Amino acid sequence: MREQENTNVLEPTYPCTQCGACCKVMHTVETTLPYDETGRCAYLVDAESPDGRPIYLCSVYETRAEVDCPTLNSMKPVDVPWFDFYAFMIRSCALLQESIGVDSSYKPQMTPDLAAILRSMSEE
Ligand code: SF4
Ligand code: SF4
Repeated sequence: MREQENTNVLEPTYPCTQCGACCKVMHTVETTLPYDETGRCAYLVDAESPDGRPIYLCSVYETRAEVDCPTLNSMKPVDVPWFDFYAFMIRSCALLQESIGVDSSYKPQMTPDLAAILRSMSEE
């Protein structure tokens, strides 16, 4: 969970695995962000997770929940429950990862804890 900037509203944290897939297909979306000839965002940085896996960090945003990313919490339609929205986004990430050959171990997971949080938020 994280607090929205300048508000006390809590938002869940999307289970992004930092695979970088959504930042490597910028040529397929309408964006003002700079990217190279392969579609890779100019702000994407190669890194390594604590357990030694390659990950890709954003040099602009702490999380991929901001402008121009496909996992925007802010993109959630008001009448769509949080659980359904995250389930849809997780499926979208998985399809994108599959389409560009990202290892399936990077698929975001809907853990029981996250599901419980999202369901309780939708009941508020
Ligand atoms: S494709 Fe999904 S899991 Fe991968 S970096 Fe983007 S938001 Fe995260
Ligand atoms: S999260 Fe960062 S690296 Fe990825 S598309 Fe957005 S600005 Fe670029």
